[in-house]
Amino acid sequence: MTQADILIKNGIILAMDESMTLIPCGYVAVSGDRIVAMGEGEPDVGARRVIDARRCVVMPGLVNTHTHMTMMRGVCEDKLLMDWLEQICFPIDASLTPDDIRASALMCQAEMLLGGTTTFIDIYRHPGAVAEVAEKTGIRAVIAPQIIDHPAGAGETYASNKAFVDEWLGRCPGRVIPWYGVHAPYSCDWQTYKDCHDAALASGIGIHTHLAETEAEIDQIREEFGCSPFEKLAEIGAMSGRMLAAHCVHVDDRDMDIMAESGMKVAYNPSSNMKLASGVAPITKMLARGIVVGLGTDSNLSNNNVDMFEEMRVGAMLQKLATGDARALPAETVVRMATIEGARCLGLEKEIGSLEVGKKADLILVDMGKPHLWPTFTGGMQENVVAHLVYSASAADVRTTIVDGRILVDDEQLVDCDLNALFEYVQNAAVDLYSRAKRRMTK
Ligand SMILES: [Zn+2]
Repeated sequence: MTQADILIKNGIILAMDESMTLIPCGYVAVSGDRIVAMGEGEPDVGARRVIDARRCVVMPGLVNTHTHMTMMRGVCEDKLLMDWLEQICFPIDASLTPDDIRASALMCQAEMLLGGTTTFIDIYRHPGAVAEVAEKTGIRAVIAPQIIDHPAGAGETYASNKAFVDEWLGRCPGRVIPWYGVHAPYSCDWQTYKDCHDAALASGIGIHTHLAETEAEIDQIREEFGCSPFEKLAEIGAMSGRMLAAHCVHVDDRDMDIMAESGMKVAYNPSSNMKLASGVAPITKMLARGIVVGLGTDSNLSNNNVDMFEEMRVGAMLQKLATGDARALPAETVVRMATIEGARCLGLEKEIGSLEVGKKADLILVDMGKPHLWPTFTGGMQENVVAHLVYSASAADVRTTIVDGRILVDDEQLVDCDLNALFEYVQNAAVDLYSRAKRRMTK
C-alpha cells in the first residue's frame, strides 16, 4: 500500500484536464506539495489524514486573475468610474501604509481561501506586506505592485517595483511570485510599460496592467497618440505573452489581432465592468481568436467580493445577454477560465489549474449536499456538476481548501486562524485608514 500525507476519497473528481475527466466516485492522494495518485473507486493508499469527500466535488482551486488587496468595501457606491477613481480610490491609495495593506491582505486572503480561491494575482500598493501575509497564510500569490506615474505618490514606482522583484524572486519560490505592475495608460508613461515589460522578460516573470476599461480612456489615448493602447504597446515592443491585461472591454478587431499575435493574456472582470458601467468585453470573439482569457473579481471596491463562483455565473450570463445567444460562454468554458486558463494567464499552467499526478496539490472540495445543489447527476445521467459550479454554487459551498499540499480550510473553517480576532484587527485598521483618507477626499 502506498503511503501519502492526505487522501481524499469518495468524491466526484473533476480534473479540469485536457479531456475534462470526471470520475463519479474517486480519490486524490497528496504527498508533500504534489498530487501523487488519483483514480476511480477505493484506493490502495494509506494516509495520515483521510478526508471523506462523499457528496463533494473535488476540483482544482480557483485562480483569480485580477484583484487588488483592499479592505474598503461599500464606501464608494454608484459613482462614475473616473469619479470613483479620483474622488475615492486615489485618496485611499495615497493614504495607504504597509500596516493598512497587511490588514487588507489578511481579510482578502481569508475570504479567498474560504471561497475556494487558491491562487490570485494582486496589483496594488506596498507589495512586500501582501507577500509577507501570503507567505504566512499559505495561499499562492502572484504580486504585481501598482505603478502610478500620474498623480505621483498614488502608487508604486518602477524603482520600488524592481526592488520588490529583487527581494522576492526566489524567497518563496513558486508560491509567492513577484511581477511587474503598471496601473493603466492614462496614469502611466509608455516608457514605464517598456521598462517593466523588458525587466519582466529578463526575470522570467510577467507584467500586469489595466487596459481599455472605458470608452473615455480609449478616446483620450486615440486623441493624444492617434492609435489604441494595444497598437501603442505593440509599437514600443511592450506587448507579448508576458503581459496580462485586465478588462480589455473596448477593443476592436485590430486590437484583438494584436492580442492574439502577441500572446497577451486577458483577465475578464464581468462584475466590475457591470458595476462601473464600463461595458462588455467581447470574450467570445477573443476566445475564437485563441486569446487566453482568465477570470478576475477585481477589487472589493468594484465587485464587492472575491467570490469566483459568483464571477463565473455573472461572466457566463453577461456574455449570453450581450451576444443575444444563450449558447455563448458555456459552463465548461467558464470553469476552465476560473482554473486552467487562469493558471495559463499567470504562466503556471504546468503546475496548477488541473488535477493531474505530478502537479501541485492546489484543490478544493465543494459540498454538493446542500439543497440548492440537488440533484447531482454523473455517470450514465446527463452530467450536471459543471453547470452546478457555474449557475448554482457559491463561495459558501467550499468545504476544504488545500494549497501546496497544506489544508488551509478544513470543514469550512480557516485552519490556525481566529476569525474573531482577525475581524477586530481589520475593523480597527479600516476605521483608521478611512479617517486618514477622508482628509484627502475632495467631495
Ligand atoms: Zn483593477
